[in-house]
Amino acid sequence: MITRLSEILSAAKEGHYGVPALSSVNEMTCRAAIKAAEDVRSPLILLEGLIYDGGLSSFLAHQVGLCEEAKVPVAIIRDHAGTMEESLIGVRAGFDSVMIDMSKLPYEQNRTKVAEFVYVAHACGVEVEAELGHVGAGSEDQSVLTIPDEAARYVDETGVDFLAVAIGTSHGIYQGTPRIDFELLDELLEAISVPLVLHGASGTGDDNIARCCRQGICKVNVATDLFIAARDAAQRTDLSGKNVYGIYDSICAGFAAEASRWMRLCGSAGRC
Ligand SMILES: [Zn+2]
Repeated sequence: MITRLSEILSAAKEGHYGVPALSSVNEMTCRAAIKAAEDVRSPLILLEGLIYDGGLSSFLAHQVGLCEEAKVPVAIIRDHAGTMEESLIGVRAGFDSVMIDMSKLPYEQNRTKVAEFVYVAHACGVEVEAELGHVGAGSEDQSVLTIPDEAARYVDETGVDFLAVAIGTSHGIYQGTPRIDFELLDELLEAISVPLVLHGASGTGDDNIARCCRQGICKVNVATDLFIAARDAAQRTDLSGKNVYGIYDSICAGFAAEASRWMRLCGSAGRC
């Protein structure tokens, strides 16, 4: 069933576990994610960031239809809307939650734009995730870690419902060895009351992820590891004869197996 993201994340915060948010790009990945969540009895969060065109509303409507029938709670968030326009299109398309990403901007600009968006989004009943500090791509060098007292002020001044923090992870395939700043995470948890989100979880290392979730991270965004699992499963498929469509089943199975692995890792398996 469709559930508000805040509901899923307050339960996670209370229970000291994380919920993986899975990048869903089409009907196949949506079905695979639901199957994974049902198999291990986990709440589910779907990320939509890769689909961005005139088809957003119809794509969302289709996914909502599938998620309504799921036996576990599902929230769907428009991920990484990079401009005010994209964020508003997300609201108009019907998302219950939108992540507006202004994390590349200096503090004042980030705060001002996000506060403006929160004002509109909340008026429409839409929950908002934003990011302070910056989770870069490829290596920790491109990331700017989140500063706890600045983050507390930011949450206060913007009214965001969920905050993505930078504590050493990186988007995409990690170059080098991930160094997660667990002390910083503790300070952030102390300073901020809204649920915290970890982006760039792929390649961070199982122990690091499990520890982040036990410590208090509530939502863990995963994309790259799912793509890799789906790709590897596709490459192993025997496509001889008339079996060309077998590739869809392989992609789904690879995606679903990796998705449930993340649910067990984050501690959300068995929670519903
Ligand atoms: Zn991200």
